[in-house]
Amino acid sequence: MNRWRDLYCGAVRPEDVGKTVAVAGWVARRRDHGGLIFIDLRDHTGVVQLVVNPERSPEAAREAHAIRSEFVLRAQGEIVKRAPDAVNPNIATGAVEIQVDELELLARSEPLPFQLDDDNVEEPLRLRYRYLDLRRDRMQRNLRLSATVIAAIRRSMEEQGFIDVWTPTMTLGTPEGARDFLVPVRLQPGTFFALAQSPQLFKQVFMIGGLDRYYQIATCWRDEDLRADRQFEFRQLDLELAFPTREEVLEMLELIVVASFEALGRTAPARPFPRHSYADVMLKYGSDKPDLRFGLEIQEATEVTRKSEFGVFANAPCVRYLVAPAVFSRAQLQRLEEFAKEWGAKGLAYVVVDESGEVRSPIAKFLSEQELAAFAAPPGSSVLFVADTQQMVERVLGALRTELGEQLGLIDESRDEFLWVLDFPLFLKDEDTGNWTFVHHPFTGPLDGHEELIESDPGGALSQHYDLVWNGWELGSGSIRVHRQEIQQRIFRAMGMTDEEAQAKFGWFLEALQMGAPPHGGFALGIERFVALLAGEANIREIIAFPKTASGSDPLTGAPAPTTQERLSELGIRLQAPRA
Ligand code: ASP
Repeated sequence: MNRWRDLYCGAVRPEDVGKTVAVAGWVARRRDHGGLIFIDLRDHTGVVQLVVNPERSPEAAREAHAIRSEFVLRAQGEIVKRAPDAVNPNIATGAVEIQVDELELLARSEPLPFQLDDDNVEEPLRLRYRYLDLRRDRMQRNLRLSATVIAAIRRSMEEQGFIDVWTPTMTLGTPEGARDFLVPVRLQPGTFFALAQSPQLFKQVFMIGGLDRYYQIATCWRDEDLRADRQFEFRQLDLELAFPTREEVLEMLELIVVASFEALGRTAPARPFPRHSYADVMLKYGSDKPDLRFGLEIQEATEVTRKSEFGVFANAPCVRYLVAPAVFSRAQLQRLEEFAKEWGAKGLAYVVVDESGEVRSPIAKFLSEQELAAFAAPPGSSVLFVADTQQMVERVLGALRTELGEQLGLIDESRDEFLWVLDFPLFLKDEDTGNWTFVHHPFTGPLDGHEELIESDPGGALSQHYDLVWNGWELGSGSIRVHRQEIQQRIFRAMGMTDEEAQAKFGWFLEALQMGAPPHGGFALGIERFVALLAGEANIREIIAFPKTASGSDPLTGAPAPTTQERLSELGIRLQAPRA
């Protein structure tokens, strides 16, 4: 190939026996067998065994004595067959080895802070020495898988007629529901750019600008607490198209998912993905991102319990239940009740039907025949009730369903369950302020025919927002947008914004909507979440080369860091202790 190597380490095969080749890479292992020295040399393709024989090459043998793990070498020699008892069937190069003639030491390594084959290294240490961590199989596999998926996504987007256009990182605040990261501007002291939470308004402007189909693997910045599936900065496959139907957008995303699975040689999920309404998933699963790899559907009991003798049922605006396929003991029920309380429930009523069909329940004596008949569960099950506001019932039973799915081993890990959630409400009541606020973002269009509800019944208005969900993870969201300025203004008003406030924040965009905005819509797919799930990783940090820790820092570079007084005064900034 070049001065350093003729072949990759992992590519040496029995067909090459007899050839003299050079390979280069890192020392994965060195074994001294009194005379013969064996070196496992590693590159990104795998490992090959080098044999240094002092009789064949005394000079290489001298060099080999001083070699330690992770030294970088170039070795030249002859590919030979291994002796039958030395064949290693577990690696692709296991039938051959290289008898070294020349050994060139290209770089030394200090002793490592952790061994690369140790699977229990603490994350801060892995991130502090990320370059070592990156040499390990897991990170190599994940980053390569990520690149394969992104390449497939790009191919699919280009095939579907989308063009890749860049949008600014530094912009005005974008209302995606998180805090903005701010960038002070030296040339205009006292002003700040916000780092884009998404290219939302720019992509809508592209549609007004006649680009027709835009996409970008866009970096987004959101100042939020970090979690397993959340970082300050992350990427989205961001797309927007003019004159769309909702169905068309969903199909495009399905093609992208299928292309990604196929690029990885995996069986793609069947299309079309099931479509569920928001109302339906909230009722059946208590979640807008349900895991459909198991059933355990929530049942409605409000009508039946309306006149119940059991006051808790009769007085609650909503009563629903789950039938778990298990006979829970008192202690288990207590633990489940604790769990329900952590999620906000006041309690957890139950009816246990043991294997012989006998009913055990402190509330059964209050329940009418009709109620008992409605909740009749098969022997070997437990009926768990939550009575509260509808929102609380959904939240608690949704969490309980997920918990029981895991605890009882109901999840079929071999399945991939994709679904679309449609017909979200347009607004939700903000629990803190009591104002109506957007569910997705304020640019989401109402469902056809629901425009009039914006004023008359904001809580009843449905939107053209859709979410893509995979095995209980939300992969992304999108919507058909508002393209009429008048409706956009009414939505801002419904959210309690005065026309002046709307003008100050979004005047430039409201103006653009008045100059020939076509119907348009789009989507954003969270790349890291999608890739992490494809890679079988529970934490997106495993598929990001240089992620931040949970406290928001980068142990490798030491960022973030204080700046100098000089930089601060240039920017006109004086520091004070942050508000607690
Ligand atoms: N900008 C939205 C988001 O980041 C996605 C969209 O509506 O296209 O969730």
